[in-house]
Amino acid sequence: MKLSIHSLIDISTYAGCRVDYTQGGGGNTSVKTPDGKILLIKASGYKLKDVCPTNAFVCVDQQKILSFYQNVNQNDGENNEKLSSQMVKDSTLTIEGLPNLRPSVEVGFHAILSKYVIHTHSVYANVLACSNEGELLAQKIFEDKDYGVVFLPYINPGFELTLAMKSVIENYQAKNGKLPEVIFMKNHGLVVTSDTLDRVKDVHTDVNLTIEKYFNLTGLLTEINLKQTPNGYLSKTKIISDFIKENGLSLELLNKYPLYPDQLVYLNNLLYATPELMKIDGRKVEYNTDLKQATTLEETLAAYAFVIKAVKDNGLTLSTMSQQEVAFINGWEAEKYRRSVK
Ligand SMILES: [Zn+2]
Repeated sequence: MKLSIHSLIDISTYAGCRVDYTQGGGGNTSVKTPDGKILLIKASGYKLKDVCPTNAFVCVDQQKILSFYQNVNQNDGENNEKLSSQMVKDSTLTIEGLPNLRPSVEVGFHAILSKYVIHTHSVYANVLACSNEGELLAQKIFEDKDYGVVFLPYINPGFELTLAMKSVIENYQAKNGKLPEVIFMKNHGLVVTSDTLDRVKDVHTDVNLTIEKYFNLTGLLTEINLKQTPNGYLSKTKIISDFIKENGLSLELLNKYPLYPDQLVYLNNLLYATPELMKIDGRKVEYNTDLKQATTLEETLAAYAFVIKAVKDNGLTLSTMSQQEVAFINGWEAEKYRRSVK
């Protein structure tokens, strides 16, 4: 167990310390214990870099989750979403010395994958995942790699996403005799899964570096910059000021091009609920809030600006979420919880 906690901290720090990999409380990681009985996963609403021996992760009954997805009646429709969230609650283990938290909203697909899982909202992966040409390009870019790559269409997170991922990896395995290690999720992000700790990090790094080099994106987003003001913090990140120069910035614009769920959770919906959080004055953006929230807003906005710029600069066409997909996220109980953890 101790070893598994250390492995989880290792991959969480790896994925959580780079703004081009994860923004705000986005992304999640998991590790299965050697006997396959327990899944340790980042807690919902926490940042990856918060994961430490005594906080920000949850232990769940791996076998319970796995058998739910192996035996579920897919025709039960909407009821399955409720059944699966109840099942996740029932699978959450109470461990002495650890706070009672909720597992990541994406715990279902972690359970059906290999021992180590890194899920990020990497800006490089999202250039492919948020463009109509991304799937075909991915086939070309990763043709010679020794890891299998699959591309998942946009699916509402939770129950449906887990089932869709299960079927895509089973199909891949039937054709190729091995499991894919890389899964691109349309309008969402990247999942990398492997049987060893080093391999999962190496493959995640290689996937991102390969896209970064292919599109010549190096150095576009390495850190965010905020300057303290009497009211809060001023946005000073270059990719954001470049974006505003070219496109302007407003809540209408953000709503017009919804790229992925985390943009809604950590940007659009926060601003919708509390418009005074962000003051736009010409090309100046100021966050009237504390450093933690200003950082989340700035990181999410920087990633958004990055993806739109890279898609545009490379002659690709932007793929956005549909209004129904946006409505699902906005009405999802699990997301309301995730937003509420501060
Ligand atoms: Zn995600």
